[in-house]
Amino acid sequence: MTQKACIKEIDIASFEEKVYVIADELLGILKELSRENQKQINCKLIAEKMSQRETVKSALAHNPAATSDTDIVQLREIANTVIEKFSEMVPSHITENLSVFKDALDRKGISGNATDWLDSPLDILKKYIASISGRNKELEEFMKQTISHLSAIERPLASELSSQKQKFTEDRKFEEDLNKYMSTMKDECNAFTDITAIKTAFMGKIENISKGFEKKREKDILRLKETEKTLEDMSKRMNEVKHEAEEIRKRSQEIEIEVYRDALTGLHNRKAYDERMTETLANAERYDLIASLMVCDIDFFKKINDTFGHKVGDLALKKLADFLRERLRKNDFISRYGGEEFVIILPHTDISGAIIAGEGIRSYIARSVFSYKSREIPLTISVGISSFKKGDTVTSVFERADQALYLAKKSGRNAVKTENDIVVEPS
Ligand code: GH3
Ligand code: MG
Ligand code: MG
Repeated sequence: MTQKACIKEIDIASFEEKVYVIADELLGILKELSRENQKQINCKLIAEKMSQRETVKSALAHNPAATSDTDIVQLREIANTVIEKFSEMVPSHITENLSVFKDALDRKGISGNATDWLDSPLDILKKYIASISGRNKELEEFMKQTISHLSAIERPLASELSSQKQKFTEDRKFEEDLNKYMSTMKDECNAFTDITAIKTAFMGKIENISKGFEKKREKDILRLKETEKTLEDMSKRMNEVKHEAEEIRKRSQEIEIEVYRDALTGLHNRKAYDERMTETLANAERYDLIASLMVCDIDFFKKINDTFGHKVGDLALKKLADFLRERLRKNDFISRYGGEEFVIILPHTDISGAIIAGEGIRSYIARSVFSYKSREIPLTISVGISSFKKGDTVTSVFERADQALYLAKKSGRNAVKTENDIVVEPS
């Protein structure tokens, strides 16, 4: 090996080393950008990042001194070799710049500062990256789309916690694989001495990464579809459930009306009264609460039926129900006990309060006018009252109120009597 050839090889090696440093940095930047995966990989960004790298700066700052003509010739050879190497990988539209550079070299040779010719290949490298990214606009676009797709599908997936968790793991795995791949790529690139080989390997790897992204995208889209289907099914099911619940609510309302309401007057029926009475009595007993019971019976109702017919009798019952609803409190429990007899539970009401309520409703009905076909029909009620006592049962309270009612009837009707009016006859 001649001295000249030896220097040339060493310098070429040293220059190539610099190129590899730059390529190394480039790979590092690509890796970083892919990790940040929101940013699209474009040449401007890469060039910016490269100019910030200390290693790139120092690679460019190290100027082989051109002291003698021999050195200049050698350096020109080095430059030509490097340019040749770059020429192989530089796309045709950049060759123009290259020939301008070559002409400059031939005319002026390499002056003292070798950074010029180092910078030019770096420029070419940058342009090359630009051309790669230009030619791979599709890939870039695809990556951009994939990223936006990923962000778009991540939102609906948020509701599916388990799927999201799985996705998280897979994404991390994907990221890890990508990083591993990038690092293998770096090692492989380092192992190559020939830039064409680097280019081939690099393009191959980029293609593989692109395929990887594509696979991931397909998988993500599949999952999105599955999620959409699940959500759709769930929403459908929810609607069905909502509909079913509405039906059940309606039906249970109907059932409650049928079971606990009196069909003619719309008041609570005997069954409802029995249940409420048991409950009220239990509460009164446990919490020491007061309550009263009022039994109302229409006076001479038989006569109304006999004189005006059952239809009018029914109307009288309805009218009385309206009067009771109008005149009594909201929390008073009004029920039709049977026939023309109505029983009202008055919670939190003692006997004197019940008398006021009883008198109120009696006089209200007596004052009101009930007419049928312009004929006024006399409508009055008699009322018997009792109030809850310790040890009372549903029957015992009722019986005392009923006995008081009997007294009211006996006293001439359209009257209110209480259990206190009952005189216990000595046996
Ligand atoms: P009193 O003043 O003593 O209570 O006399 P009354 O005629 O009201 O009492 P009685 O118990 O003798 O008659 C009650 C009548 O109520 C008998 C029945 O024909 C009538 N009756 C019971 N349930 C209904 C009903 O749902 N509709 C109609 N129209 N009449 C009914
Ligand atoms: Mg009656
Ligand atoms: Mg009766």
